[in-house]
Amino acid sequence: MTKANDPLRPQPRAGIMDIEAYVPGKSTAHGVAKVHKLSSNENPLGPSPKAIEAAREVAAKLDIYPDGSAKRLREAIAETYGLNAANIVCSNGSDEILGLLSQIYLTPDDEAIFTEHAFMVYKIYIKAAGATPVVVKETDERADVDAILAAVTPRTKIIFLANPNNPTGTYLPFDEVRRLHAGLPKNILLVLDAAYAEYVRRNDYEAGIELVASSRNVVMTRTFSKIGLGGARVGWMYGPLEIVDAINRVRGPFNVNAVAIEAGIATIRDRAHIEKSVAHNETWLRWLSEEFTGLGLRVTPSVGNFILIHFPDDAKHSAAAADDYLSERGYILRRVAGYGFPNALRMSIGTEEANRGVVAALAAFLKS
Ligand SMILES: *Cc1c(COP(=O)(O)O)cnc(C)c1O
Repeated sequence: MTKANDPLRPQPRAGIMDIEAYVPGKSTAHGVAKVHKLSSNENPLGPSPKAIEAAREVAAKLDIYPDGSAKRLREAIAETYGLNAANIVCSNGSDEILGLLSQIYLTPDDEAIFTEHAFMVYKIYIKAAGATPVVVKETDERADVDAILAAVTPRTKIIFLANPNNPTGTYLPFDEVRRLHAGLPKNILLVLDAAYAEYVRRNDYEAGIELVASSRNVVMTRTFSKIGLGGARVGWMYGPLEIVDAINRVRGPFNVNAVAIEAGIATIRDRAHIEKSVAHNETWLRWLSEEFTGLGLRVTPSVGNFILIHFPDDAKHSAAAADDYLSERGYILRRVAGYGFPNALRMSIGTEEANRGVVAALAAFLKS
């Protein structure tokens, strides 16, 4: 380890070495014939065949720089959702946007709020900006608007709200999001992280388009990662022109690569593939919830493409023991102790084969 303030070496800014690096979902298991990766909320139906084709085509032109503003991708997104392309910024995954917003709107004097079981990336970017993360209690594993509003101080500059949240899968109905916004001072940026919006099938849910359009302190972030392009790294933000302008000054000049742009355009235009993916998710999310409950395991009600499974208190049947048992059989789930769930696992909705396999394996595990 290096000593702090060693004059003979470059030193990261204060606080950087206190950041705990993000741990991605595992993707391998040893000694099993077939691995089912259910740890990163990827699309079990894979990428759109049209995206694969588009990526192949662009491969022949990899010597050419991409369009730095990803204009055609922004236009394809704008057309799909009825937005103005000028209010969209594309990014290398939506993570990049979350980092840029932190870098642009936070100083070391500031605080940024997120909730107890929220997506962990927020904390990393807040700390990387030198600001103070403020963690707010949830109620029933769901963001609590009153608790968030009560945590706001004159130093608060950003509120990150994952809606739906990962790893809980819970969501705030839109009247609650509106109530949160209405209670905030106008200088606070409300970031609506709608990474799972495609999968939500609830009448009282809205990803945030309307609220962005009618205010100057709200942005919505979205991603292609959960609908088939996790590996291509494509995300986007819809926000007020002033915020888009600030991001465009700071982001990498070619932050979205040529393959990501073409695969993204093909994906968003392939509505049939998206609809098929969402229908698959709806069927199997419901089935898995019922099966796990039937096994005596509590699940958090999810509207995303994953489900949080809680394990019993006895050490023999803990989440860690279940994870080992499942891994030995090729089923890779996600441990979520770092999210405040020491005795739960998050499972991405998989193929029919994977889903049935996990249920059968857990039934055997609980009897063991
Ligand atoms: C997966 C995820 C993201 C974004 O991922 P990218 O791959 O960087 O687009 C953002 N927020 C939440 C809550 C997520 O689960």
